[in-house]
Amino acid sequence: MKTYRSMVLVSSDPLSMERGAQQVFEKLQQELESFGISEEISLKMVGDVGRHDALPLVIIYPEAAIYGPVKNDDIHQIVEEHLYKGRIASELLASSRELTGRIAWLNARKGTMPAEQRIVLQRAGIIDPNNIEEYIIHEGYEALGKVISSMKPDEVIDEINKSGLRGRGGAGFPTGLKWKFVAQATGDQKYIVCNADESEPGTFKDRLILEGDPFSILEAMTIAGYAVGASEGYIYIRGEYALARQRLETALVSAKEMGFIGKNIFGSDYSFEIHLHSGAGAYICGEETALLESIEGNRGQPRTRPPYPTTNGLWDKPTLINNVETLANISAIIREGAAWFKNIGTPSSPGTKVYTILGNVNVTGLIEVPMGITLREVIAIYAKGMKDGSNFKLAQTGGSSGSIIPASLQDTPMDFDSFNKAGVSLGSGALLICNEETCVIDLAKVLMNFFRVESCGKCTPCRIGNERAYRILTRISEGNGQMSDLEELKNISDSLFLVSNCGLGQTSGTPISDVLKHFLAEVEAHIKLKVCPSGVCTMSSQMQDHPIPVH
Ligand code: SF4
Repeated sequence: MKTYRSMVLVSSDPLSMERGAQQVFEKLQQELESFGISEEISLKMVGDVGRHDALPLVIIYPEAAIYGPVKNDDIHQIVEEHLYKGRIASELLASSRELTGRIAWLNARKGTMPAEQRIVLQRAGIIDPNNIEEYIIHEGYEALGKVISSMKPDEVIDEINKSGLRGRGGAGFPTGLKWKFVAQATGDQKYIVCNADESEPGTFKDRLILEGDPFSILEAMTIAGYAVGASEGYIYIRGEYALARQRLETALVSAKEMGFIGKNIFGSDYSFEIHLHSGAGAYICGEETALLESIEGNRGQPRTRPPYPTTNGLWDKPTLINNVETLANISAIIREGAAWFKNIGTPSSPGTKVYTILGNVNVTGLIEVPMGITLREVIAIYAKGMKDGSNFKLAQTGGSSGSIIPASLQDTPMDFDSFNKAGVSLGSGALLICNEETCVIDLAKVLMNFFRVESCGKCTPCRIGNERAYRILTRISEGNGQMSDLEELKNISDSLFLVSNCGLGQTSGTPISDVLKHFLAEVEAHIKLKVCPSGVCTMSSQMQDHPIPVH
């Protein structure tokens, strides 16, 4: 393998591309050639280097010098000073204040900040996501080779089962068990579906996995197909994820050319095809049965269960549906073994979790850390504390359908069972962290507005309940609430949970129940005193007419 004296990475996430990363890359190529050093330098575009104001970034190893935001005019100086003369161009380095996310932790590596532990994002930001050879150099397709050459399908399922991997889509269902159900189901045709319809507000982890390491998902789906006896797979990708789709398309072509997808993989009698299917922007299509309807060309509405997709899924055939983050763990588990995986995280929730950090903190972005870390640790270590010295009030975990948790639960380990025991949900991994300037009525109102718009309208409790709750919360926020509203809100929340047809409706009442449970005094202040303690709600105006949407 060729060795280089320096490696130059150019960030190529959507924001970097919008800010001219492609031109920066091309200009770097030209400058390296004009200085006669292009053969000595490895230059590539990479995904997921964090989300911040300094994009696009140019990162140069081995010095780990981070330049940004890089403009075309800066490149001559970077190449001449850093790569030709060996002196860091200090004045063009990204200000550490502008750096957030992974790159901030990389920048602070000599300080006290602990490293992340990366499994699913191990190659993101390191390899060129359009280059299958780089994936292969970084242990890519080792797991598929191992599976096909030396493991029987039930041994693969057994390994995933023993690893204790649980689905990262929110529910935490044991992955190996799901694979077993599909393997045991009878059917002349079975399917693997990757749920990449990441629509939960504040969540963008799956996008970064797909943009930074698309081959890992293709490899995992191919392994899953071998294990459960499927010959076809679909990736259902959120319509807005244009760059991720483009990278998946390129990856699919390369994987087919190299024989990792298609007929007789690794010379075996196992064949597997993967198709891409873009969603059209409906939140409900992240619900697995609505997603199946959408692939089939129908309106994206959830099916009534049972039967479950494991026996009656896509076109009524047994179907294994896993989300992106779950699949991104598979090849590492096969390669390193279940025992290695079980050593990370907590005994009942092994492995890592990818979190997106948002809100009133100093550093927002994305982290991958072992399961079991607490919210207090995330805020102190990775988010570098609350913004402007403000105080933590609440966090919403898991996007709109997640839980609103108060300061008293900050030290609860973030793993499936500890959160379940505390009556909260881990959800998708979005952490919206709020200070005392956040009003719980306003927050709940925003969330109920989201649900009333995104409800597919198929069943009454969800279609009417979310609209009704939104109207009541609006009334309270305007100073026109009554104490009897609280009982009605509770009834709506209970009904949503008990009789809604799918997960969207069942979890849509969570903001209401959490606010009533943890912040009752603040809610009562809005009703009895006509005061918003956080100073957010305008309490004087009359309730406006909010028409019920027609579905
Ligand atoms: Fe549609 Fe809501 Fe019923 Fe789910 S709960 S099927 S989203 S109306």
